[in-house]
Amino acid sequence: MDCIFCNIVQKSTPAKLVYEDEKAIAFEDIHPKAPIHLLVVPKEHLTSLAHANPEQQQLLGHLLLVVKKLAQDNKAAGYKTVINTGREGGQVIDHLHLHLLAGQKQAEI
Ligand code: AMP
Ligand code: ZN
Repeated sequence: MDCIFCNIVQKSTPAKLVYEDEKAIAFEDIHPKAPIHLLVVPKEHLTSLAHANPEQQQLLGHLLLVVKKLAQDNKAAGYKTVINTGREGGQVIDHLHLHLLAGQKQAEI
């Protein structure tokens, strides 16, 4: 399976990495929709939130805490966290990722 985010995890596709640990990686979105637009990605391939199972509960919590850390590192006054799931949910890349959007007032949803 050819997965662009797995390739970024493997470092076979370049990205502007901003964070890495044993379970997760984060990098700048290639088409930023805010002054700060980062993607937090699990290293293991997980297609979407809809594919997550209870064994991944800790991983899912970890990803949220990485978002929090990166927001703090960037001194974000506030931030929006988005997880698109499935085509109808706006998901284009089929490897779970959390968008961190900050640096300007975010639209209310
Ligand atoms: P989504 O619509 O939630 O699947 O979002 C996918 C995001 O990945 C979009 O915001 C894209 O701009 C971003 N993206 C796609 N390819 C890359 C890449 N090679 N490096 C960084 N971001 C990417
Ligand atoms: Zn993948």
